[in-house]
Amino acid sequence: MENSDTAPWYKRLHWQILIAMALGTVVGLIWGEQVVPKVGWLGTLFIRLLKMVIVPLIVTSIVSGVSAVGGGRSLGRLFSKTMGYYVLSSALAILAGLAMVNLIKPGVGANIAGTETATIPELSTPSSPVDLLLDIVPENLVAAAAKPNMLAMIFFSILLGISIAGLPDRPREFLVELFDSAFQAMMRLTSGVIRFAPLGVFGLITRVVGASGLESFRALGLYMATIAFGLTFHLLVTLPLLLLLLGRINPRIHFRNMAEPLAMAFSTSSSGATLPVTLNAVENKVGVSNRISSFVLPMGATVNMDGTALYECAGVLFIAQVMGVDLSIGQQAVVVLTALLASIGAAAVPSAGLVIIFIVLEAVNLRGPEVEVLVGAMLAVDRPLDMYRTVVNVFSDSCGAAIIARSEGETGVDTTVAAD
Ligand code: ASP
Repeated sequence: MENSDTAPWYKRLHWQILIAMALGTVVGLIWGEQVVPKVGWLGTLFIRLLKMVIVPLIVTSIVSGVSAVGGGRSLGRLFSKTMGYYVLSSALAILAGLAMVNLIKPGVGANIAGTETATIPELSTPSSPVDLLLDIVPENLVAAAAKPNMLAMIFFSILLGISIAGLPDRPREFLVELFDSAFQAMMRLTSGVIRFAPLGVFGLITRVVGASGLESFRALGLYMATIAFGLTFHLLVTLPLLLLLLGRINPRIHFRNMAEPLAMAFSTSSSGATLPVTLNAVENKVGVSNRISSFVLPMGATVNMDGTALYECAGVLFIAQVMGVDLSIGQQAVVVLTALLASIGAAAVPSAGLVIIFIVLEAVNLRGPEVEVLVGAMLAVDRPLDMYRTVVNVFSDSCGAAIIARSEGETGVDTTVAAD
């Protein structure tokens, strides 16, 4: 690996990824749809490689992390801190979305009829909090791994880690070492996959730009700008403030250490697919121990989605504005609460946020054909917003890991910008 002080800039991975994004945009714009079959497969291949490592990486990471923490009090403390952070950061994100929509009012007087719409994909989403809870307990571990049902895998891995921690010395030491070695091997494999990122990102961005161009994004410009402002506020103001105030961490250093996962979140639109890269950066660059990152990040990827939460709230209020429905303060509070729950239930895959918006719409009785046309129009322009909210989702998880690590006395977190 190159040292960041001596390697020329173009050899550093995050620059290579940025260049790949720029090249992908240019190629997609010039050659349009005809280029998609030629280079799109590079993106598909890269996503497959990432997905290939997810399940073994998460399982070994959590089991080795939790068995090192042990069960009991210290795990309980880590759990409360993690949940506390998830709820706080998502609630702040939703408030930013609420404020932006009420300030800018992008839906008032908007004429959406005639804009391009898209068919809403079928994504399985839990229909109630009880379903969500039941979904976490796998009936069959192999089926859960094959799906993959991440929350179920996380749940099982935590329980296995706790059980290992409770074993007598000899089997415990053996298993801790076994899972730790397997985890090291998976991290090494992941680093190898990440080297391929520039080519993969080039394929992904070319496909997005080539397939949809930039044209369709004009009609819903103000709506998109509103969401983008909210996301930017959360990314550049709220989360850095949390880093500073709760973790005494320099946000600039944290941003620079997270450059690769953020670029990856942007190009893949999937916190799940980005997870291997996030784990790698948070441990090797930010400097968080496996004990904490293995607990905060995998769960965060599915549960803590600040960008999606902001989007749920802002999207529903936008639809209400377009339809001329005045939501009372009480109804807005319902939107805030269900947006939080919906973001927890949303899968860490592209477009999940938009599909799950129906849950929030239902909560305030917005339904019917007009609503469906509006959601279809929003879906037609969803890709760039999805890319951006995924960046916010991933960044918030990493901030949580860094803040919690600091609060647990880890002093080496984000002290310097790490080398590639
Ligand atoms: N694509 C997002 C993610 O994976 C979820 C969403 O659609 O909001 O984090």
